[in-house]
Amino acid sequence: MSKSIIVLGAGMVGVCTALHLQRLGYTVCLVDRREPGRETSYGNAGLIQREAVEPYPFPREFGKILRVALRRGFDIRYHWAALPTLMPRLAGYWSASAPARYRDIVPPYARLILHAIDEHRVLMEAADCLALARPGGYRAIFSRADSFALATARAERLERDWGVHSAVESAADLRRAQPMLAADAVGAVHWQDPWSVVDPGALVTAYATLFVRQGGEVRQGDAQSLRGEGAGWAVETVDGVLTAQQAVLALGPWADGMLRRLGYRLPLFVKRGYHRHYVCARPPSVPLQDADRGFMMSPMRAGLRVATGAEFASLGARATPLQMTRAESAARRWLDLGEAVEPEPWLGARPCTADMLPLIGPAPRHPGLWFNFGHGHQGFTLGPISGRLLAEMLDGASPVVDPAPYAPSRYA
Ligand SMILES: Cc1cc2nc3c(=O)[nH]c(=O)nc-3n(C[C@H](O)[C@H](O)[C@H](O)COP(=O)(O)OP(=O)(O)OC[C@H]3O[C@@H](n4cnc5c(N)ncnc54)[C@H](O)[C@@H]3O)c2cc1C
Repeated sequence: MSKSIIVLGAGMVGVCTALHLQRLGYTVCLVDRREPGRETSYGNAGLIQREAVEPYPFPREFGKILRVALRRGFDIRYHWAALPTLMPRLAGYWSASAPARYRDIVPPYARLILHAIDEHRVLMEAADCLALARPGGYRAIFSRADSFALATARAERLERDWGVHSAVESAADLRRAQPMLAADAVGAVHWQDPWSVVDPGALVTAYATLFVRQGGEVRQGDAQSLRGEGAGWAVETVDGVLTAQQAVLALGPWADGMLRRLGYRLPLFVKRGYHRHYVCARPPSVPLQDADRGFMMSPMRAGLRVATGAEFASLGARATPLQMTRAESAARRWLDLGEAVEPEPWLGARPCTADMLPLIGPAPRHPGLWFNFGHGHQGFTLGPISGRLLAEMLDGASPVVDPAPYAPSRYA
C-alpha cells in the first residue's frame, strides 16, 4: 500500500489529480461509476478560460435580482421546490459576494486561473491531443449599448489588473470577423487568451488514456462505498475491494452527498446547465457568448453546442429545459442553427461553493482523505492546476500556489 492512492471521480479534476500524483511517484487508481469524462466535464461549453479571473458573484443589483426573482430573462432560473434547502447556502453566497469580501476572493481565484492554459498545454502535449484545442479566444457579443459599455470598462480593468488580453470590437469589426452572423450586435469583446476545445469529453479521455499508458489504473466502482480500513481507505469496485493509504474525493457535483455520509455539512450547491448541438452549416470561427442573454454558442465536433446559464435546483430534480428552449430561439437570431442533433438536451451541474473558491486540500477530520471539488463555472479550466496543487500538497512538495485560501478547513 506504500504511496498508494485512490482518486474517486474521473472528471477533469479527478483525472488531472491522478496524473499529477502519478508524476510524483504514487501508485494511483482512478475509480468512477462511468468511463472518465462522461459527466459535467463532458457537457460544458469547452472553454479554457484564462480571462475568468473573477468568479461569478451572486447578483447584487436590485434590478437583476428582481428580474431573476420574477423569472424574467433566462440566464438564471430557479426551482421553487429547491429554495428551502438552497436558502442557507445562497445566503453564504450572497454574503461572500458583498464587495468587501468579494475583493479578497478574486486574487486567490485569479492565481489559479493564471496557470490554466499552461497546465493544460503540458498535459495536451504529453497526451498528444493538442488538436482538440483551438487557441483564439472567444467573443462576448452585446445587443445593448449599456452592457457593452460596462464590458468594455471591465475588459480594460482586467487587462490592467491581471494581464487579460482582449480587443473591443465595433459592430462593423464584428461583422467583418464573423460574417455568418445574421443579426447586428452593438459590439463585442474578443477575449483573446482563452482556448476552446472541440470535444471536452474527448480531452478528459485523452488525459485518462495518458494516465493508463503511464501505468495508472481505472476501475469502475461506487465512491459511496468508501470506508476507512486500518490506517487507509477501501472502496468496492467491480473487480473487488480496492485499498490504499490515501484517497482523494473529486466527485464534482456529487461531492456533497458523499460528504454528508462522512459527517460534513459544507455550503455546497449546484448551478445546473443544459446544452444541445445543432447542425449549423456556417458556425462561427471561435465560440460566441450572447452576453446579454447569458448563453454560449461553441463550435464543436458534434455540431454547434448551445450551452445555457445557471439553474438553481436540486442535483437530481427533473429536467426543466426552458433555458435551453429560450437560448435556442435567441441563438437562431444570430446563426443559421439548422436541426438539433439530439432529441433531448443534455443536463449537468456546476459544483459550486458559497465563497466561490474550490476546496483543495486535506479533509478536516479524516486523516489520509483529501478534497478536490467545487470548481463552479470553471472546473474544466481549473482541473490541471487544481490537480497539480493537490498532488504537491499531498506529497509535501512546495506548492505551485499558496493553498491556504482553498483549504477545506475554512468551513469546518
Ligand atoms: C452548461 C455548463 C457549461 C460549462 N462551461 C464551462 C466552460 O466553458 N469552462 C469551464 O472551465 N467550465 C465549465 N463548466 C463547469 C465545468 O464543466 C465543471 O466545473 C467541471 O466539469 C467539474 O469537473 P469535476 O471533475 O469536478 O466534475 P465531473 O466532471 O462531474 O466529474 C465527477 C465524476 O464523479 C463521478 N461520480 C459521481 N458520483 C460517483 C459515485 N458515487 N461513484 C463513482 N463515481 C462517481 C462522476 O461519474 C464523474 O465522472 C460548465 C458547466 C456546465 C454545466
